[in-house]
This record gives sequence, structure tokens and C-alpha cells, in this order.
Amino acid sequence: MTGDDATFAGRLAAVRARIADACHAAGRDPAAVRLLPVSKTFGTDAVLEAVAAGERRFGENKVQEIQAKASALAAEHLDWVVIGHLQTNKAKAVARYASEVQSLDRIDLAVALDKALQAQGRALDVLVQLKTSTEPSKSGLDPASLLDFLHELRSFPSLNVRGLMTLAEASDDEAVVRRCFRDLYQWRDRARHAGYAVDRLSMGMSGDFALAIAEGSDEIRIGSALFGQRRYTP
Ligand SMILES: *Cc1c(COP(=O)(O)O)cnc(C)c1O
Repeated sequence: MTGDDATFAGRLAAVRARIADACHAAGRDPAAVRLLPVSKTFGTDAVLEAVAAGERRFGENKVQEIQAKASALAAEHLDWVVIGHLQTNKAKAVARYASEVQSLDRIDLAVALDKALQAQGRALDVLVQLKTSTEPSKSGLDPASLLDFLHELRSFPSLNVRGLMTLAEASDDEAVVRRCFRDLYQWRDRARHAGYAVDRLSMGMSGDFALAIAEGSDEIRIGSALFGQRRYTP
């Protein structure tokens, strides 16, 4: 074991060591795997502890929570990344407070975001969330619609499409989890082949990031392994 589990810096060191191990096993450069700390449900004190450890960019799944934290921590100029299911009526707040959306999964949301962004003279990086699992509770675009969706997104000047995101099936069977990550990787190949610059793959969380790295993840979204157990599942 490395580090001290009682502090964010200690948990960060432990997670980084596990990322390095997973990269080593996969023959990949650890510098090529970006870490997105997921601060949802944790308060501003926890975020400030992460900031002190060098983090500037945080994943959240509720816009109200981004709004509250971004306002309370305005002096820190942090970047807030939306990773949860988004309602179109939140587009204005997203356009104002978020620096990126990884959960773009339908056209009416793209329409609302683009309109809100244009009104504020801003652009946003977005990832398209694909549904690679069979669980009804998970959102995401049907992968079979990806190429049509990417084509439609070309008409939204404020949305810069940077890649794809997915959540793997919650399963103890490694093969099932890997299948989700491999699907995302293969859909990126198809999209690239069709001429879309969807370079980034956001996949992997606390429980499955080593598998995601083995399957080619560029960015892992880590909550509990960095911040501790959440008191409730939002
Ligand atoms: C909460 C969440 C994470 C982080 O989950 P952990 O298991 O705590 O690492 C990653 N991605 C999404 C979309 C989430 O909602």
C-alpha cells in the first residue's frame, strides 16, 4: 500500500499508483490517462482539499450542485464537468457554470445547450454518452445512432465534440464490463473512419478503471476511491 488513506493526497497517490500499474500491464504511458475526480455529494471542504493536492477540474452529475460549488468556490476558477443525465431545462445553467459536458445523449439537449451557449457567446467541449450496457437505469445514446447523431451535431457551432463517454454494466463478470469498454473503443474507430474527430474516450470509475485502461480509456472518472464512500447514491 502507498500513501495515507485518511487524506485526499494519500488516496490520490494510491489511485495514481494503481493507474501506473494498469498502464504498465497494458503497455501504455500513464501520462496518456487523464484523471477526473468526481466530487458529487461531497462538500466544498472536500473539493478544497483536492485543490490543495493539485486538482482543478471536477466531475459532477447535478447542475444545481455545480452551481452551488462554482459560486462558493468562484475565487478558485475551477473547471466543472457534467457527467450525469441532463434535463434540457438546465441548459442555461450548464452554459454558465460548466466547462464541459460528457453526457450529451440526445438532439433536444444539443439544441438547448447550443442556444444557451450562443446567448452567452460561449462554446463548450462535449462528449457523446453511449449506452453500452443493457441496464434500463443507465442513460446514453443507442450506439447504432452514433454516426447520424455526430452528423447532426455538425450544425451546432457552440458544441465542440471531443469524444465518447460510457458507463459499463455494473457486473462482477469482468468479461461483461470489458465488453462495454471495448464497444466504446470500436464505436470511436467507426466514427473516426467516417471523418469525425472524436478522440477522447471517457470510461472507467473507481470499481472498474483498470479494465477501462486495458481497453484503451483516455480518461477515468473517479469518485469514491478519491473522496471516500458517498452517503447516498444520487
Ligand atoms: C459517480 C460517477 C462516477 C464515479 O463513480 P465512483 O464509483 O465513485 O468512482 C463516474 N461516472 C459517472 C457518470 C458517475 O455518475
